[in-house]
Amino acid sequence: MIDFELTEEQKALIDTARRFAKERIIPIAAECDRKSEFPRDVFKAAWEIGLANPTLPAEYGGPGLGDLDSALITEELSYGCSGIDTSITANTLGLTPIKLAGSEAQKKKYFGWLTSEPIQVSYATTEPGAGSDVAGLQCRAVKQSDGSYVLTGTKAWITNATLASFFIIFATENPELRHKGIGAFIVHRDAAGLTVGKHEDKLGQRASDTAQVMLDGVHVPAAQVLAPPGHGFKVAMETFNQTRPDIGAIAVGVMRRCLDESVAYAKERKTFGTAIANHQLVQAMLAEMAIRIHATRLLVHKAAWSLDKGIRDPLTSSIAKAYGADAAMQSALDAVQIFGGNGYVKEYPVEKLMRDAKILQIYEGTAQVQRLVIAKQILG
Ligand SMILES: Cc1cc2nc3c(=O)[nH]c(=O)nc-3n(C[C@H](O)[C@H](O)[C@H](O)COP(=O)(O)OP(=O)(O)OC[C@H]3O[C@@H](n4cnc5c(N)ncnc54)[C@H](O)[C@@H]3O)c2cc1C
Repeated sequence: MIDFELTEEQKALIDTARRFAKERIIPIAAECDRKSEFPRDVFKAAWEIGLANPTLPAEYGGPGLGDLDSALITEELSYGCSGIDTSITANTLGLTPIKLAGSEAQKKKYFGWLTSEPIQVSYATTEPGAGSDVAGLQCRAVKQSDGSYVLTGTKAWITNATLASFFIIFATENPELRHKGIGAFIVHRDAAGLTVGKHEDKLGQRASDTAQVMLDGVHVPAAQVLAPPGHGFKVAMETFNQTRPDIGAIAVGVMRRCLDESVAYAKERKTFGTAIANHQLVQAMLAEMAIRIHATRLLVHKAAWSLDKGIRDPLTSSIAKAYGADAAMQSALDAVQIFGGNGYVKEYPVEKLMRDAKILQIYEGTAQVQRLVIAKQILG
């Protein structure tokens, strides 16, 4: 039986996240965007009330929420600011490989750390020369006689890199082996040889921290090998499968904000002697925004529900991400259009929404890569 009714707990979770976005995120979002600064105190406050690391299992002290719950939180926080949310949700991206591949000792240690302190985590596949082509990464992992590894290479565009206490680094024992050579490693921020590059000065989601990570002969003890070479690529791909619905949820949050801002403005702004909300071409843009919100949310909930049920559904996961990202970009463009000249300046909130939306078509697999993933599944 299909049931679209949320539980009382889920409704309460939405209330909590919505209040948090209203009280803690919206008031500072424009300033964080302007300064390109992540508000760590907001992360700490979110962590304290269980809005960070939602899917961290309860048996390790985490909130123990499901993927649908996580999507509900993400939608609300992204309504406030998708840049701030991206840095909060990046922790889920970082902890998922440990959930998937971590030993009991690794889970105890790293989940314990995440539950005892408001720390941030980074997940790093991308390199200056390898983004879409994850199997083409070049960062080298050289095995030592005691089972430890030495990593050398550069990771690019890493969310939370400046702030992270530890990193999930994907590296290869031999680039020629492509996906068959890749492993996953837990690397501590204070590891000798690890340095973080400059904070990237981005177009949008400027409150989210993004930087390069340089590894120069970084020693990774055997206890921090998450997946040995040959087993890491699968972990990376399954992580994306599980976290892509969250990108769809970010898109829904951005679109809801676009619609709310646009409706308020359209009712207020007058042209030709009437509110622009009375012009049918403006109404059409508002209606399309509503259509995209509902369609994306259904996709996100279906993808997250499948994850919670243990049903593998990478097709819906990719469609939720691909459709949601494009839908958010179009809705943000339309919001700027509805605001006219006022949409083009920083005094009004929609230009930020447009800048923020663009990254949804790029990170966690570009719009084009999602099409490839979807086509591959259709074609078999
Ligand atoms: C703000 C931000 C945060 C990020 N956070 C992280 C993070 O936390 N961790 C992480 O590992 N990475 C992160 N990334 C990296 C992100 O995932 C990559 O930028 C993305 O996967 C694209 O890779 P690329 O930039 O190298 O582009 P490329 O792979 O060089 O692609 C360039 C263009 O070519 C297209 N293209 C490439 N291959 C094909 C193909 N086969 N067919 C058709 N078109 C193709 C792409 O769609 C794109 O339009 C982040 C990026 C940004 C900008």
